[in-house]
Amino acid sequence: MKKLIVLMAAVALIGCEVSKPHYESVNDYPVKSGSVQEVVYTPARTQFSLWSPNADSVRLSLYDAGEGGEPVYTQWLKRQKDGSWQGEVTGDWQGKFYTFRVWDPTMQYEAEETPGIFATAVGVNGRRGAIIDMRSTNPEGWSSDRRPAMEKVADAIIYELHHRDYSIHPSSGVEHRGKFLALTEHGTQSPEGLATGIDHLVELGVTHVQILPSYDYGSIDETRLADNRYNWGYDPVNYNVPEGGYSTDPYDPASRIREFKQMIQALHNAGIRVVLDVVYNHTYDVAHANFTQTAPGYFYRTREDGSLGNASGCGNETASERPMMRKFMMESVRWWVEEYHIDGFRFDLMAIHDVPTMNAIREMLNEIDPTILLYGEGWAAETPQLDEALRPIKANCTDMPGIGAFSDELRDALRGPFYDDHVGAFLAGQPGNEQSIRFGIVGAIDHPQVDMTKVNYSQQPWALQPTQLISYVSCHDDMMLTDRLRASVKPLRGKQIADDELTRLDMLAQTVVLTSQGLPFLWNGEEIMRDKKGVHNSYCSPDSINAIDWSLKARNRRLCDYYAGLIALRKAHPAFRLGDAELVRDHLEFLDVSTDNVARDGKVTPDCVLAFRLKNHAGDDEWEDIVVLFNANRQAVQLDLPTDANYTAVVLDGKVNVEGLGNYKDHVRVPAQSAVILHN
Ligand code: CA
Repeated sequence: MKKLIVLMAAVALIGCEVSKPHYESVNDYPVKSGSVQEVVYTPARTQFSLWSPNADSVRLSLYDAGEGGEPVYTQWLKRQKDGSWQGEVTGDWQGKFYTFRVWDPTMQYEAEETPGIFATAVGVNGRRGAIIDMRSTNPEGWSSDRRPAMEKVADAIIYELHHRDYSIHPSSGVEHRGKFLALTEHGTQSPEGLATGIDHLVELGVTHVQILPSYDYGSIDETRLADNRYNWGYDPVNYNVPEGGYSTDPYDPASRIREFKQMIQALHNAGIRVVLDVVYNHTYDVAHANFTQTAPGYFYRTREDGSLGNASGCGNETASERPMMRKFMMESVRWWVEEYHIDGFRFDLMAIHDVPTMNAIREMLNEIDPTILLYGEGWAAETPQLDEALRPIKANCTDMPGIGAFSDELRDALRGPFYDDHVGAFLAGQPGNEQSIRFGIVGAIDHPQVDMTKVNYSQQPWALQPTQLISYVSCHDDMMLTDRLRASVKPLRGKQIADDELTRLDMLAQTVVLTSQGLPFLWNGEEIMRDKKGVHNSYCSPDSINAIDWSLKARNRRLCDYYAGLIALRKAHPAFRLGDAELVRDHLEFLDVSTDNVARDGKVTPDCVLAFRLKNHAGDDEWEDIVVLFNANRQAVQLDLPTDANYTAVVLDGKVNVEGLGNYKDHVRVPAQSAVILHN
């Protein structure tokens, strides 16, 4: 059988072989012409093309399986002018696996076989590439799959989730727990009969899910899934293949691809767009990384002394400013959009990349669909080896139209600083956070009523448009909001604050998030009061910390309904998502709460009251005037209303009802630790 395969593999050379040029440094390397992709399959032949400019030789090996065994065929590839090496095997090789081995004299690590940098299908643990016909991985109806309608970016409401957190607990009622397929199952319920899984997302009303890394990562051994290990997945191995640990069969290369597509299709059919969390900024390791094993020294930044940069805090940082890394990132993003119908990208530690690359990605996405979201973390773990002016930090967002960043100004003004979980802020009744919250409410744009001298972290507005700000109080990083409130809010009695107070503060926090002109962002489980037992960094904590117990939904039904109510309110009223800086400046006015118009009994901190109005039918809203009030004090406050009209409350005391929760004239009482929204 092996002999037959070898006979089938008659070699056909592509182009003429050229001799090796001399390169002074990696900066002299040519850029690969055409696609970065390395394999083109047809039933008649499979073509291979690996970019490795400084190699002395490159060998292709073909295997029957994704791991183990000897090659069934090998071939020396031929050097091309653009730094790539090419070869071809005739016959139908679908179902086989391949690797490249590169001999490069600058390699500082042991040379290993690699699937290349752009494998689109792999065997178990991503060690070998797989030859498959991508069309065979399409679920039924895939060709008619479309991204759900969305008029403008400002309409987005993002829900971050982790595959395993979301469905691994038995209470999820899901069949494919912890797998891509979990989000394809309708009708799943908690033991108390409440919706879980994809139905819970629909019930909540979010427009986007942002899923923690779903590409092939290295920290979970796909041959030992029964061990039930957990990881967030910020340790990329193969950037252009879904993770095998979330598939039903990591040994079958088509399984992870098909099931990931089924998940996207199910979410799209449910009206939900999908944001991919991408981690181009570093790799799992350097010695074994496909980047190193393909073109050593090229894809990573080094310090002046030659040591590796470490802006990721994970031992390395990639070099997006180098032409092939930039091309790799652009083609990778395009691959996820075109092959998998992805609707948005969250760039992990975006500040490690460079502004021109991020802008090039945005421009490319605009040509496909300008409503595809693009945002990231406008910071790095350590200082990147790149000029500050070129870094996609928050302060440079004004040079990156259409690219958003998470607002730690708003987050920390609400919950407290990242460096100490026990320090509270607005939610803990601490003064001094009002201007930072205003900054988050307007979406980090220039606004006459935001005093930048009192905003934390940023000295200047950093957004051109409010949709560049991701508005949030919690995400997968750091403590859950529940844990953070327990750690940072001083209890009136006992060791920690009472559940009722916790619920009120949770509601208050998310009312700020969901009435911001930025894009609101929620972390899975906050809506049902999930906690992580106080764990601050749960990236590899066991399921006992990370899994969502869906029985919490019945216990916290009021909180969950409040989230859904606020989301529905935002979706029904364009005033909350104006999407344009001029409109926000014209229509969003902060109300004076520091002087006579707030009645107090002396115990109230005025800084812990914040109010604004969206006036004159903002965004052509049917409501003429909307007033939003936040009170983080443990006492109620009474606040004068801005006009003498009759107002109807639609959010009051932990309830949302657009039909009305009472009528108010002249003034309104805002209960302790709560938000009120009224309109006339
Ligand atoms: Ca993996």
